[in-house]
Amino acid sequence: MEASLGIQMDEPMAFSPQRDRFQAEGSSKKNEQNFKLAGVKKDIEKLYEAVPQLSNVFKIKDKIGEGTFSSVYLATAQLQVGPEEKIALKHLIPTSHPIRIAAELQCLTVAGGQDNVMGVKYCFRKNDHVVIAMPYLEHESFLDILNSLSFQEVREYMFNLFKALKRIHQFGIVHRDVKPSNFLYNRRLKKYALVDFGLAQGTHDTKIELLKFVQSEAQQERCSQNKSHIITGNKIPLSGPVPKELDQQSTTKASVKRPYTNAQIQIKQGKDGKLMKQSKTVDVLSRKLATKKKAISTKVMNSGVMRKTASSCPASLTCDCYATDKVCSICLSRRQQVAPRAGTPGFRAPEVLTKCPNQTTAIDMWSAGVIFLSLLSGRYPFYKASDDLTALAQIMTIRGSRETIQAAKTFGKSILCSKEVPAQDLRKLCERLRGMDSNTPKLTSDVQGHASHQPAISEKTDHKASHLIQTPPGQYSGNSLKKGDSNSCEHCFDEYNTNLEGWNEVPDEAYDLLDKLLDLNPASRITAEEALWHPFFKDMSL
Ligand code: ADP
Ligand code: MG
Repeated sequence: MEASLGIQMDEPMAFSPQRDRFQAEGSSKKNEQNFKLAGVKKDIEKLYEAVPQLSNVFKIKDKIGEGTFSSVYLATAQLQVGPEEKIALKHLIPTSHPIRIAAELQCLTVAGGQDNVMGVKYCFRKNDHVVIAMPYLEHESFLDILNSLSFQEVREYMFNLFKALKRIHQFGIVHRDVKPSNFLYNRRLKKYALVDFGLAQGTHDTKIELLKFVQSEAQQERCSQNKSHIITGNKIPLSGPVPKELDQQSTTKASVKRPYTNAQIQIKQGKDGKLMKQSKTVDVLSRKLATKKKAISTKVMNSGVMRKTASSCPASLTCDCYATDKVCSICLSRRQQVAPRAGTPGFRAPEVLTKCPNQTTAIDMWSAGVIFLSLLSGRYPFYKASDDLTALAQIMTIRGSRETIQAAKTFGKSILCSKEVPAQDLRKLCERLRGMDSNTPKLTSDVQGHASHQPAISEKTDHKASHLIQTPPGQYSGNSLKKGDSNSCEHCFDEYNTNLEGWNEVPDEAYDLLDKLLDLNPASRITAEEALWHPFFKDMSL
């Protein structure tokens, strides 16, 4: 767009309205930048104030990440010997629960520092402010490099992701938020790091002690709703050894909280005895995947198998709305089933979306599969959904409605779906989205014109993937690896820019692995260890 306007403006009129507009746009961009810089400066000052001991060790240079639960800064440290070192400082929001923070730290200290899992250098605390200092890994923006990665780089990326997942799964850590922004990739150095254990949970036999104390928000809700003091599974009793110092810290300030612990819930409940949240039963109202056209609507229920243990809802499935896309009053009065569901909707596994209470490390493998789907199709994000049922319907459009329903049965969920959609052939789908099938022009240097930033499947698009691929080219935002961008590798983009080699002969093994990662049934889904041994990686060594 801008390029063609540029040509028209070869000989601009002195007071061309176009030029005025560009100048205005330019200066407003500059203002915006200045405003942002001032904001970052202020945040840095505030951080020094909150944790003064930081100034003895670090020079904080920039803010490199901001999420709901933390802000991450780039700092340098002048250590006694050797050159200046770059450090990432993660400042957790002061309302994070102390056990949650301690568990995140323990994941980094026990499992981190090896096999592409981020490690930790120091941790600072003053009052309720905690800052985790980690080695800094300069990294790429996934979206910016997506369509310039060679096929070999994709193989290496996935191999290294599985290496990290194998490591954390061995420690009984379920990461729960595997996505590109939590898997840092430095293309030039071929370095990788899995970060952000802020949502991690433990398996029943986790080796991370503090993860035994952590439970999801949903589980807290369940405790709260049940008003029960009975704790099941691997959860600790109220009298469990909550680290004293941690437990004394205030966590009651703000409304944003990461999932915390039984201890906290029960204490809370003891205080006011109120329900923490209204039951979100309306969630089961059918959601439309497409806009106004008739599309898939889904409804998830516990099947008879699960109901006995998981819910105290009326036992009959044959209520007024069974097999319709309405929700009757019986269903509206059912107690909401709660299960861990933290993470990002587009990366959530079917068992997470359907609130299956028994979730395992397999949920991280599904998320890895969604990343692989993006890499093979050149589309990111692949799924974009604002709620779980829409996300589930989107999965059905790729994996098939019958297959999804069938798999859900194995983990005790009954899904009703208004329309049957077939499973898609993964190779054909990815090739179409990449513009490499015989019906679309062959891959050329024009590939970067693909709208890689358009989700392959969004709520605004029809559920038929064959309709989804017709996003017009020419909207790719291009290379943002600019000098001065602290999140980028300054030198490494151009040399890779046109490296498209390997894409015209993607082996069947790639799609076989993708199929095994996107296995709808968590019990048979491939593990990280098995993935590393998959023939797709036959010439790669650990
Ligand atoms: P959050 O819990 O807020 O998502 P993360 O730990 O995921 O926090 O960090 C947010 C962002 O900060 C990451 O996506 C990454 O861009 C950057 N970041 C985090 N840790 C590091 C690190 N060790 N080195 C470089 N950048 C990092
Ligand atoms: Mg993160």
